[in-house]
Amino acid sequence: MKNFSYIKAGSLAEAIKALGAKGSRLHAGGTDLLGCARDEVFQVDKVVSVSGLKELKGITARPDGGVRIGALTTLADVAASASLTEKYSVLSQAAAAVGTPQIRQQGTLGGNLCQRPRCWYFRSDLQCRKKGGTTCYAMAGENQYHAIFGGGPCFYVHPSDVAVALVALEAQLRIAGPSGSRTVGIDSFFVSPGKFIDKENVLVSGEIVTDILIPPTAGKIKSSYRKIASRGSWDFALASVAAVLQVENDTVRSARIVLGGVAPFPWRVQAAEKLLAGKKLDGSAAAAAADAAIAGARPLKGNAYKVEIVKGAVEETLTALM
Ligand SMILES: Cc1cc2nc3c(=O)[nH]c(=O)nc-3n(C[C@H](O)[C@H](O)[C@H](O)COP(=O)(O)OP(=O)(O)OC[C@H]3O[C@@H](n4cnc5c(N)ncnc54)[C@H](O)[C@@H]3O)c2cc1C
Repeated sequence: MKNFSYIKAGSLAEAIKALGAKGSRLHAGGTDLLGCARDEVFQVDKVVSVSGLKELKGITARPDGGVRIGALTTLADVAASASLTEKYSVLSQAAAAVGTPQIRQQGTLGGNLCQRPRCWYFRSDLQCRKKGGTTCYAMAGENQYHAIFGGGPCFYVHPSDVAVALVALEAQLRIAGPSGSRTVGIDSFFVSPGKFIDKENVLVSGEIVTDILIPPTAGKIKSSYRKIASRGSWDFALASVAAVLQVENDTVRSARIVLGGVAPFPWRVQAAEKLLAGKKLDGSAAAAAADAAIAGARPLKGNAYKVEIVKGAVEETLTALM
């Protein structure tokens, strides 16, 4: 592992300034960053820790009825929050599904959204397409964990569990950077490899996600996160589903259905959402939404099994919400 310098920022402004230098990397909980540094996935000359910035931690109710979660809030705190579990169980379930208790104690919500892909070619010392080379080795190689939707020219899947839940909740992200602050809807935060091959989100150099804002819901929502992984102990999702439904008198008023582990960014299935809106949530609606969720899947040689997993997971998730 190459040497790097380390600073612990005393303020957000200091962190942003320090991140302006080439090779500077933000350190939140460090659970992904340090692995990437060790494996030389990218250049790390200076590590800028924001762990001392208390203003980036905590879960608070907002006057509009929504919730603000500081980006440095740990995944364990998100999973354990009684207020989130009551109102937005999809998010607490997704946070609880991440890794191990140790990872959830140390890893932060912001870090989980900004972690780098787990594609084994990207994480190896191969100069793959994402690292500036000319070949996506997954395309013709070992691709059992890769994308069945939205891939090309690179076929990694986004590794975050909570991102899937936050897209289903229509969260917004507050971002601070050298040119001031901005708020971005999470639907526009993640980017496809076709747009930017070398990054997974719209952050530019020096920018830091400071807050995750969950909007108020129009009425009571029913929500759930279901993750399918190879191992029960800890693992990244082979596929996952976040469902958020607004239901009135047994009729779905609106739905957000988002898939994880199957595309380079959380994959929203609007066709399934449209099918559910205005319908009674019953077995046939759940089955139709599951069929809609897999329409357009483009599996690679080794990952067609994911199509069936998605179909089953969507149907089961919706059935559990009946
Ligand atoms: C053994 C293991 C198992 C795991 N299993 C899962 C799993 O099942 N599901 C899952 O979703 N994840 C899983 N992870 C990933 C883990 O959840 C992430 O590593 C963690 O959430 C990252 O948070 P962190 O605070 O440690 O981020 P860091 O490691 O500090 O940062 C991660 C990256 O994001 C950037 N970053 C961090 N915070 C911000 C911010 N606020 N603004 C802008 N950029 C930022 C950093 O510069 C870095 O590039 C696993 C990791 C390990 C090591």
